[in-house]
Amino acid sequence: MGNLSDMTLQVERVPTLSDNYTYLAYCDQSKAAAVIDAAEADPALVRISELGLNLTSIFSTHHHLDHTAGNPDIAKATGALIYAHADNRGRLPGLTNELREGDTVQIGPHIGRVLEIPAHTMDHIAFYFDDGPLVFCGDTMFAGGCGRLFEGTPELMFEALHKKLGTLPADTRVYCGHEYTEANLGFASEIFPDNLEISERLAAVQETRKGAAADWHDATPAEMTIPTTIEQEQKTNPFLLAPTVEELARVRALKDEW
Ligand SMILES: [Zn+2]
Repeated sequence: MGNLSDMTLQVERVPTLSDNYTYLAYCDQSKAAAVIDAAEADPALVRISELGLNLTSIFSTHHHLDHTAGNPDIAKATGALIYAHADNRGRLPGLTNELREGDTVQIGPHIGRVLEIPAHTMDHIAFYFDDGPLVFCGDTMFAGGCGRLFEGTPELMFEALHKKLGTLPADTRVYCGHEYTEANLGFASEIFPDNLEISERLAAVQETRKGAAADWHDATPAEMTIPTTIEQEQKTNPFLLAPTVEELARVRALKDEW
């Protein structure tokens, strides 16, 4: 039977809409798979077929349509169950499995833990897997940034970033909901003009994004800046560098106007 590397949870990045990431997380041995944040059905279904995956689950980090619109068609095509926060009962089409803090989800032998991280929306959750380790965190933490506060408060975003996601192992790979990294680091470099790690990361990201496909659907892994890591975000994300709720609120307000 397989060695350790076979047991690692694999992640396929599927570009959707204009800058969204839909992910396929799968077990290399059993081909059991979950789709995370299905903005669109077709691009995910194509990759599921090409990779020969057996899709058992659809995970949604929050209810926004650019993270859920593909759910019904994918469920219809595959029979997969739809998992999201319990507060989405009656709101999220086709929801079958209601989740709360500490609940577990499964992809073949891989167990994921649900973290409640309300701030961008109040129903927002993350899926954390020890096998990686890796986390799917939707629109809460971005590479070099964080989501807008549509429903929650700066206090809640501070809690989500510093007390939840920020306490995951440093080497945790972070799979977020959008390819916003270049703009986020452009902003970060204005807020922290003397931070060498931010300016170096911005230069590296600009290099990665140079010559990116005109249509995001055609993007290749070479032009994707995701995943990032918790360690990298601790060093260069202005919202993790903000030491207090008040400072996070100030930086978030500046970014909203940027
Ligand atoms: Zn959102």
